Amino acid sequence: MSQLSRRQFLVSAGASAAGAILLKGCSLNPPSPADLSPKAQALSLSPSTTPEITNVKLGYIAIVESAPLIIAKEKGFFDRHGMTNVDVAKQASWGAARDNIEIGSGGGGIDGGQWQMPMPHLISEGLITKGNRKIPMRILAQLNTQGNGIAISNKHIGKGFGVNLAKSGAADYIKDLKQSGTPFKAAYTFPKVNQDFWIRYWLAAAGVDPDNDLDLLAVPASQTVANMRTGTMDGFSTGDPWPDRIVRDKIGFLAVLNGQVWPYHPEEYLAMRNDWIEKHPKATKAILKAVMEAQMWCDDPKNRTELTRILAQRKYFNVPADYLFGPYEGKYKLGDQRQEVLRPELATMYWKDGAGSVSYPYKSHDLWFLTESVRWGFLPKSFMKEADRVINNVNGEKYWREAAQELGIASKEMPKDTSRGVEKFFDGIQFDPTKPEAYLNDVRIKNIKA
Ligand code: CA
Repeated sequence: MSQLSRRQFLVSAGASAAGAILLKGCSLNPPSPADLSPKAQALSLSPSTTPEITNVKLGYIAIVESAPLIIAKEKGFFDRHGMTNVDVAKQASWGAARDNIEIGSGGGGIDGGQWQMPMPHLISEGLITKGNRKIPMRILAQLNTQGNGIAISNKHIGKGFGVNLAKSGAADYIKDLKQSGTPFKAAYTFPKVNQDFWIRYWLAAAGVDPDNDLDLLAVPASQTVANMRTGTMDGFSTGDPWPDRIVRDKIGFLAVLNGQVWPYHPEEYLAMRNDWIEKHPKATKAILKAVMEAQMWCDDPKNRTELTRILAQRKYFNVPADYLFGPYEGKYKLGDQRQEVLRPELATMYWKDGAGSVSYPYKSHDLWFLTESVRWGFLPKSFMKEADRVINNVNGEKYWREAAQELGIASKEMPKDTSRGVEKFFDGIQFDPTKPEAYLNDVRIKNIKA
């Protein structure tokens, strides 16, 4: 079955009464063994596939992006490839993850894990580290696409918050709030990375200048939700299950999903310290093979109930499992009319999506993140001359290809090129990776710095 028809199938399967009853009252406790499918079988490894080391510490943030790491651990995929002592370690925040990669597992930190973009590039270049220390990192795989959205506080119901803010009048409403001295306030969890970019793109497409027409700031997720509840925060750009949680708790509504702004966009990535990779190339590929198999497992609709139960546990996401089920099906309540949509093509995906491979780390996507960083003045314009060098240092697509080959992935399943080609956004803007300057020229609102 193709990806799409499989997903259509899962929707009808998931909508069955039996499925709904099964999910009712799911607790945050570990699922009972009877609810779990068998773990992956250990492979008999050859000298060329036996990892140099069996332990590694990988950080994650409790949002759907981390599922392949958690599943690789829980379903035995790490063990299967000889990585029998993987510590999948919850990180308190993105800042904590950054601090932990700086010190490495030897210093009580982490060797790698889940990252927003372009954190691996910024860390490698010493741009967000203490004392500007350069800590070379390599991206090994993309963890997922989509699964992120922008939630708006209930006090803005009726103001036209949806995909297109210009047409609905919400763009003018945001600007008026600024004029009247009560600027719209929106948060993301870490500056100058994905969720900051997503809300900026959406606002700017409607003619709202994110640097001048509202207040955008980095706030931890739980605090943002508390502030939305008390009315001191107006918006939140974040990953599932937060948006759905905000809707369920009647604090706010989902204005837009990032999949509506940029279908099948790059989301978060697996990246590790390069010194660890160079010392342990076979272990690196073992980790990659395990994560790839976990990604396939996560995308398989027959595993969905189990997936949500594993992630829901207190030690992982600490949310009711049924909060996760809807977003995985593409079932979202959208807009301030809370219209429930069932659009599987907007759900998060881990291995494959409508544009091909999710897992493969395209260099063209690294380039978009760096170009967007220049668009908003996070990196100087002169950085565009450095982009290829930085991407070639940080992007580890060659490890992905080798791991995929060892896993027996058919070559027709592997991307031919390091570029996914021209990317199309909802407002008609295109990003041609061979002409990033043309994109910087085409976007109307920007804050490019010399
Ligand atoms: Ca995200």
